Amino acid sequence: MNRCRSVGVSPSLPGASRRLLGMYDVDGWWPARTRFEVMLGAILVQNTRWPNAAAALRALRRERRLTPASISTLESAYLSELIRPAGCQSVKASRLQALAAWVERAGGLRSLEALDTDRLRTELLAVHGIGHETADAILCFGFGRPRFVADKYARRWLDRMGLAVSPLQTRAYEPCRKFVEQRLRGTNIDLGELHAAIVLHAQSICRARPNCESCDLRRDCRFPRTV
Ligand code: SF4
Repeated sequence: MNRCRSVGVSPSLPGASRRLLGMYDVDGWWPARTRFEVMLGAILVQNTRWPNAAAALRALRRERRLTPASISTLESAYLSELIRPAGCQSVKASRLQALAAWVERAGGLRSLEALDTDRLRTELLAVHGIGHETADAILCFGFGRPRFVADKYARRWLDRMGLAVSPLQTRAYEPCRKFVEQRLRGTNIDLGELHAAIVLHAQSICRARPNCESCDLRRDCRFPRTV
């Protein structure tokens, strides 16, 4: 593959993505019963790990608070208390309520479903507390849109593997997202599954100090040869 590498082209991304996907079981990686639950989870998981966000979601489920109306009308101090396991509870409570109010103002989830992806993303980014990463997680896992979550794990993996042509493509969120979406368009690679595999890889092997000796991607990765 590397033989074909030329300026402006990175032909190995689909191959590396398939190999990575072959290393992990990503079935049911984002467990949620409803689209709105995915949206809540995308905010609750900000700056924490999924088990903490899941504990907060369980508390909301116990209280039957998993709908836009039930979140937006909940007393904010009580909502903060319920979601305490996810951390930053006051901040996240105000974000959850902003999200719920937006869904209600928009006419509900069915109205949002009818929007095209770019319009929906623009609207999501205008909601308090929703940045690029959260918006793309909601689009991908909640609405099934072909959006790549170009988080720090993804950028680190692409950078270490030497998959990007320009450092700019791994330095910042938007260039990375666009690069991956463009390079994988027309392949059968699911962007949500790829995100899941990257997160699992980053948390198990390709950590801040990577365990390259036990990585199946070692042969194709640029990183072990540069340290
Ligand atoms: S070889 Fe090392 S740096 Fe490369 S993907 Fe595997 S763990 Fe990460």
